[in-house]
Amino acid sequence: MLFRVFAKDHLINLYDILAVNHIVGPMSKGFDRHGAPLYDFDFIYDFAELQLHYPATIHSLKRFVLPPRETLCTFDLQKDGWQKHVDYNAYKPTVYFGLHACDINALNKLDKVLTGNVYPDPYYAAKRKNMFIIGAGCTPQPFCFCKSMGTDSVLHGFDLFLTDLGDSYFAEIHSARAFAFISSLECREPRQSEHQRFMEVAQERMNLFTCHVDTTDLTKILDLEFQAEVWREWGRKCLSCGTCANVCPTCYCYGIEENVDLGLQHASKTRHLYSCNLIDFAQVAGGHNFRPESHDRLKYRYYHKHRGFVEAFEESLCVGCGRCGQSCLANITVPEVIASVRGEGGDHA
Ligand code: SF4
Ligand code: SF4
Repeated sequence: MLFRVFAKDHLINLYDILAVNHIVGPMSKGFDRHGAPLYDFDFIYDFAELQLHYPATIHSLKRFVLPPRETLCTFDLQKDGWQKHVDYNAYKPTVYFGLHACDINALNKLDKVLTGNVYPDPYYAAKRKNMFIIGAGCTPQPFCFCKSMGTDSVLHGFDLFLTDLGDSYFAEIHSARAFAFISSLECREPRQSEHQRFMEVAQERMNLFTCHVDTTDLTKILDLEFQAEVWREWGRKCLSCGTCANVCPTCYCYGIEENVDLGLQHASKTRHLYSCNLIDFAQVAGGHNFRPESHDRLKYRYYHKHRGFVEAFEESLCVGCGRCGQSCLANITVPEVIASVRGEGGDHA
């Protein structure tokens, strides 16, 4: 990895160089019901819209690589039969500006399933290949537990990562493309004092984490506690709304719809993201539902994240961003659920 330092007021020059592409970044989205500012990823058309010092976004970047609804292919009836048209829906290189480490790690985890596994997903892969990723350092929020999940820093999966040193940015360069862009700015190699400042900033950030999850032997504990009453307690609270999966950067389950028009001339196949918390997620042909009760569905989501994925890839599918807990109308949070399964905490009914 190469490192460079450039003055903060040169960030706009980097933006301008990259603006021939689509740019997606964190931007202000109004206020919540308590008056707190909200941020989310969206297309940026003006540098002034880019809010690099955002605390967290409501959604992750997932909708840009796994859209909530996506037409996978269409069919037209021709004289010689049905003609199939496939479109991977990836048209233009896109710069993703200002991702926190947890969200880059989330993409790295999705890659394991959707590009590096037995059944690669060409729709995801096409969009992923079109990404130029610029990471940005974050300030831990009271609900973030990425440190517990080992996703508070990131070593790969980005082109450039920026750390704010006060009046300059410390840039970690991870691709030849990023090196070319940075070299066209006024920049230089960091001095020893800037190495020192970089390490101080990292330590100051570490000291701000207040939310933790004890992951020690978690997969074994989940095996042991599969029938624990505490799952029923959380199940009684859960509304089975699926919001947690919607905002989660690593939930990727989907359903497929096939539609034929009334004239029987055209047809389409559409994918829509799903949630294992929704009541019909495990319903199969004939109407049998393998997980008809909410506690079974909620438990399944936790076992996929913290048990099944660990067995397959030796890491959790949760990056500790805390979005699910922040969005849950029933106030169900990962730290509280895991603590309760470990026998800590109080009554959850
Ligand atoms: S855990 Fe919360 S967000 Fe998720 S399905 Fe249940 S009520 Fe909805
Ligand atoms: S399960 Fe919750 S905390 Fe973990 S990655 Fe998904 S949204 Fe973030």
